[in-house]
Amino acid sequence: MLDRFEREINYARISITDRCNLRCVYCMPESGVRPLRHADILSYENILRICEVFSALGINKLKITGGEPLVRKGAVDLIACLKQIDGISCVTLTTNGHLLAEHAQKLKEIGLDGVNISLNTLEPSVYSNVTRGGDVNKALAAIDAAIDAGIPSIKLNCVPLGAESRRDVLQVAALARNRVIHVRFIEMMPIGAGFAFTGLSNGMVCEWIEREYGKWTPTEKSYGNGPAKYGALPDFRGKIGFISATSDCFCERCNRVRLTSNGFVRACLNQTDGVSLLPALSEADDDKLFYDIRTAILKKPERHNFSSREESVKDVMSKIGG
Ligand code: SAM
Ligand code: SF4
Repeated sequence: MLDRFEREINYARISITDRCNLRCVYCMPESGVRPLRHADILSYENILRICEVFSALGINKLKITGGEPLVRKGAVDLIACLKQIDGISCVTLTTNGHLLAEHAQKLKEIGLDGVNISLNTLEPSVYSNVTRGGDVNKALAAIDAAIDAGIPSIKLNCVPLGAESRRDVLQVAALARNRVIHVRFIEMMPIGAGFAFTGLSNGMVCEWIEREYGKWTPTEKSYGNGPAKYGALPDFRGKIGFISATSDCFCERCNRVRLTSNGFVRACLNQTDGVSLLPALSEADDDKLFYDIRTAILKKPERHNFSSREESVKDVMSKIGG
């Protein structure tokens, strides 16, 4: 369906848990966040029910996210069921990769359309510091496992922390040289723990990359459902994409809503407005569910307000799904 600004909303990010096995410095506080009680997390039955209504309203692409989605038991079976919903043409997953290797084959078998693996650096100590305890070899093994399993679309998400990240950026970009995996650089968003970082503009990241690997030439093709702008580098098999949330506002092309793990449809990443679906889920028929989801879509603002750090919502990215 169209929102108030005539944008077609056809994509939903579904956060299936607020829990995570890592604590990335720009996403979560060191102490973690108090997790929701299991009873307050949407059941898989309710997620499926909501996604059927999403589909009836014209949302045909779903991204499963978290927290870390693969820490929730049964996540792979949920994805298998989502793939069966009439009208859903694409189900993808965003993960830190730590649990992906053990599930990659099954995910391919049930028809997962793509996976995004977060990876900010190849340096084990930097990775461990940034994720507060993560193991870069697990993230790298996840990439290999996804390739070996034949998952159709594999992308890496890299969030450079600041001016000191040049080596990390170049190393991560180089992973697209010999393999058809696409590497995307995401500007740090001033949300939650991300407030503490100045981040880096993608203009600078592109400059570093071009100086090292040659001219970045934009491609027509979009390679996904989101706001990334992709381009090719000489002799690279994969593409390099930029998601420039702060330096190049893409709200005009926004196509999405977000479902939090406790059943709230959030209209915009950076604003708390939306609708809780819990009352509607307690009703036997779906009328209120349709009404409430439509209402949430119609609450979508024209644009986020990242440019005003004061206005930006002090939230926790892991609860919103990134
Ligand atoms: N745990 C999974 C992961 O790390 O891929 C999925 C959830 S995570 C919240 C989704 C994405 O949001 C990750 O790629 C992460 O790097 C990104 N992210 C988290 N905090 C961010 C911030 N402040 N600015 C930009 N991206 C952020
Ligand atoms: Fe966990 Fe992903 Fe947030 Fe890192 S970015 S703390 S892996 S939810």
